[in-house]
Amino acid sequence: MAQKARIPGVFKNVIAPVQAWLLSQGRCVGCGRDMSQGKKSKHKDGLEKIVCECGRIFVKDIKSSKYRRALLEEV
Ligand SMILES: [Zn+2]
Repeated sequence: MAQKARIPGVFKNVIAPVQAWLLSQGRCVGCGRDMSQGKKSKHKDGLEKIVCECGRIFVKDIKSSKYRRALLEEV
C-alpha cells in the first residue's frame, strides 16, 4: 500500500523557530527583507498592515512593535 506524501514534522520544527526569529527581528519570513521597507497601511485597533515586496502580508502591533503573519480575513 502506497503511503501518502506528507511534510515530515522535522521540517516544521526547524522552520517555525526561524520564522519566529525573523518576525522578532521585524523581517519578512519569506525573503528576509526589513519590514520597515514594506508598504504600510492603517489597519484597526492599533494594528498596522505591512505588505512586503515579495507579497507576503504581515500585521504589526503598534503598541508592542511585534509582527505576525496576517490572518486570512485580514488580507
Ligand atoms: Zn518578503
